Amino acid sequence: MNKQTIRDVSWQGKRALVRVDFNVPIQKGVVGDDTRIRAAIPTIKYLVDHGASVVLMSHLGRPKNTVVEDLRLKPVADHLSSLMGISVQATPAVAGAEARVAAMSLTPGHVLLLENTRFDAREEANDESLAREYAALADVFVNDAFGAAHRAHASTEGVARYLPAVAGFLMERELDALAGTLEHPERPFITIIGGAKISDKIGVIENLLTKVDALLIGGGMANTFLLAQGHAMGDSLVEVSSIELAKRMIELAAQRGTKLLLPTDAVVADTFAPDATTRIVPITGVTSGWRILDIGPDTRIAYAHEIARAKTVIWNGPMGVFEMPAFATGTRAVAQALADSQAKSVIGGGDSVAAIEQMGLADKVSHISTGGGASLELLEGRVLPGVAALRDR
Ligand code: ADP
Ligand code: MG
Repeated sequence: MNKQTIRDVSWQGKRALVRVDFNVPIQKGVVGDDTRIRAAIPTIKYLVDHGASVVLMSHLGRPKNTVVEDLRLKPVADHLSSLMGISVQATPAVAGAEARVAAMSLTPGHVLLLENTRFDAREEANDESLAREYAALADVFVNDAFGAAHRAHASTEGVARYLPAVAGFLMERELDALAGTLEHPERPFITIIGGAKISDKIGVIENLLTKVDALLIGGGMANTFLLAQGHAMGDSLVEVSSIELAKRMIELAAQRGTKLLLPTDAVVADTFAPDATTRIVPITGVTSGWRILDIGPDTRIAYAHEIARAKTVIWNGPMGVFEMPAFATGTRAVAQALADSQAKSVIGGGDSVAAIEQMGLADKVSHISTGGGASLELLEGRVLPGVAALRDR
């Protein structure tokens, strides 16, 4: 990674302002899945151990620029405190005088969590006055919120204009895994793209087509490609407005000599329901009254075979409606093939990550991204504003 990190700063006696992603589910004041909190601990621990005092900030949910009692960060401070075995103070102030008093009274090794950044209307507007208030709280800014790095907000991008800004360990790990893999893949390099809609991921497909040896497509988005090739799709989800785009992608793949694999068979159902009547049909046999809800057995074998011979694999998007067990087989087959392979495997995207965790295979892959939207934008080849703002090495 070509950005400075917390290892490049001498922390003794300094105050660190750390943007983390503590956007976790909270029910009645109790934190649910705390993966994101745990993911930030290595950075916080490093800073504390190196003599810094630490001011943390994060957004939580969508309070729409006003104080929402259920979206206060106090329960997160308490949770972090018990995870780390140190005291973590919370303040009800996002920034301003009250936050400054709390930050300035911190002694080395102590941690303060500011209030939900999105309570302040200036946050999402990336307002300069708020960025300056944040900057007044510390000596150095650390961005460890990979999941928010695609947003140019005051706490991710604005503040970095007023303080020296470096990456935390989670940010570094995510950038190495995603951007680093895209830049220097060991070949064969393949990607598997799925999910509901082609329109959500056209930028990803277009960028990856220029980089990979093979692109495997599944999920609902494959239907539009198949339609573009002239296959009838029955009652399947299709995006008529994206047919031309799909054709263009097929041509681009041919021009670049990139292998583009589409399903050759499918699991079709008579309704969109867990207990629907299902059939396995070749892709030429999808008739009206039936809809594709998963890839079929021949496709599973072909995709698993491609994964087995790859040295690098990036996966985004499930192969079918995996939320219903009857249509999870294709997604499971891909997850299993990844788990069995020696390839460097990187998974990004909210639903694909949920699928591999649900299947108990998460610890068998090289990297699982914590940032859905941010990881998609990296795969599109975009520069994330929260990353661009960090100091170059
Ligand atoms: P990710 O979050 O991993 O990027 P997406 O959000 O793009 O993935 O897509 C996930 C959704 O796509 C899931 O809810 C899944 O049910 C849906 N999906 C997958 N295949 C189909 C299909 N054949 N028809 C309709 N929906 C599908
Ligand atoms: Mg999703």
